[in-house]
Amino acid sequence: MSKIKRALISVSNKEGIVEFAKALKEFGVEIISTGGTGRILKDNDIDVIDIDQVTNFPEMMDGRVKTLHPAVHGGILAVRDDEQHLKEIAAQDIEPIDLVVCNLYPFAETIAKDDVTLEEAIENIDIGGPTMIRSAAKNSNDVAVVVDPADYDNLLAEMKVGDGGLTKTQKLKLAYKAFHHTAEYDQRIQNYLGEIVLADEKKELPETMLARYDKREDLRYGENPHQKAAFYLEDEQNEPSISTAEQLHGKGMSYNNINDTDGALELVKEFEAKPTAAVIKHANPCGMATADSLKQAFINAHAGDPLSAFGSIVAANRTIDAATAREIADQDKFIEVVIAPDYEPEALEILKERSDKMRILKTGELSINKNKPGYSMKKVTGGLLVQDRDLAQTTAEELEVVTEKEPTKEQIKDLLFSWKVVKHVKSNAIVMAKDEMVVGVGAGQMSRVDSMIIAGRKAEGRQEGGVVASDAFFPFPDAVEKAAELGVKAIIQPGGSIRDDQVIAACNKLGIAMVFTGKRHFRH
Ligand code: 5GP
Repeated sequence: MSKIKRALISVSNKEGIVEFAKALKEFGVEIISTGGTGRILKDNDIDVIDIDQVTNFPEMMDGRVKTLHPAVHGGILAVRDDEQHLKEIAAQDIEPIDLVVCNLYPFAETIAKDDVTLEEAIENIDIGGPTMIRSAAKNSNDVAVVVDPADYDNLLAEMKVGDGGLTKTQKLKLAYKAFHHTAEYDQRIQNYLGEIVLADEKKELPETMLARYDKREDLRYGENPHQKAAFYLEDEQNEPSISTAEQLHGKGMSYNNINDTDGALELVKEFEAKPTAAVIKHANPCGMATADSLKQAFINAHAGDPLSAFGSIVAANRTIDAATAREIADQDKFIEVVIAPDYEPEALEILKERSDKMRILKTGELSINKNKPGYSMKKVTGGLLVQDRDLAQTTAEELEVVTEKEPTKEQIKDLLFSWKVVKHVKSNAIVMAKDEMVVGVGAGQMSRVDSMIIAGRKAEGRQEGGVVASDAFFPFPDAVEKAAELGVKAIIQPGGSIRDDQVIAACNKLGIAMVFTGKRHFRH
């Protein structure tokens, strides 16, 4: 484990950076920094080397080009046990950089402002930062990269144990986090530009809906045995879906299986960061959870509403391993379908052994980024209703806190979690969640307060201290009062009712934190 000798610090979010840099100095680390970061460090009596001394180039064009230089990227990307690499950087007087501390221009915060212009948004697209983060993450064998101020203390603790260095595993973990950070950052930019670019296209749907469907198979029957049915596929398939999934085992898929499995799969696609499992009945989730392992996610998902789980669909967003398969197989209830990106060989054997009938489907790797714009359609008698697919996503930055009480960090996690779930529940939809686990769902009721009561009944007390998501605004304070009575502490909803002020006042009186998303997720 080699010591960290040189660090490059370039951060927009300067939280904790002075203390961190001071601590690095105590380990004898030399610090290079960019303009704004350097000024803060120097103001706090920390010796730094300015980036232009390393690049022999001034920072240019209001910072558009600061660190984009071979002297920086050569220093980061050189493989330390490759003699040729070391020779090549030495020939250019480039010194290795062992630690990159970087977080990016605040793009999300910028676009969250009401009066943001396109120019301002674009100026806040960081180019050099992601490049540096990706260089360091690629070379994680030799270089550590930190993108989150919350990781500073832990890194220092690890350096202390490692005598000023970090293990490869520690660095690989940081690299994983770094790529997650840059992927999320780019995704935000894509979404933002997409909303502008696609705005016009969105307004106009085609003059005629052409027949673009070919029959894949006749089904035994439709929703009911007296209805004939078949499954037709679009001629262009461009994302993992119920239509592209490969069946590995079990009886043929029925009409209801296909419909419900579609719901299950689209739901778990929303969750990328952590292992996630869902248990679906009649296209509505009765249990759903994310956890550090897929096995735990399934256990929590199943525990959401074990009574309803009979004859369910199980969906996962990660390859099913043997431990998870055993957990699924151990359920004494009938399971219609299991669908997941893939299966470890042992896991597949365990599931196959469970039953000849249980359908096992494989989708390939899932990602919300693979979702393609398209239409959702609904037949009405004599016509066809067509709309854009609901691909809207909501980030923490987009939430508007409307109550005196601010949600805590943990609550925000649960609020976003439950908001993703509620999008996939039939309206009027209420989802109660705690610790990234669904504890109660109220679906398809004609009144929101009824959905709240049903969700509370399903939750059986587990909602205490938890959160609620509502797919559309509360027309009256009654459902919120019910939530308070059930011990719920935070609520996420679109807002936009003429009685919002009454709803907010009720929350303030009852000590509930509430956030608005500005978006509704009806699903009829
Ligand atoms: P500072 O406040 O130190 O002047 O700038 C820090 C920010 O600049 C960080 O968010 C970092 O990601 C970003 N950054 C570093 N190098 C470059 C570059 O070459 N181009 C651009 N556009 N941003 C950079």
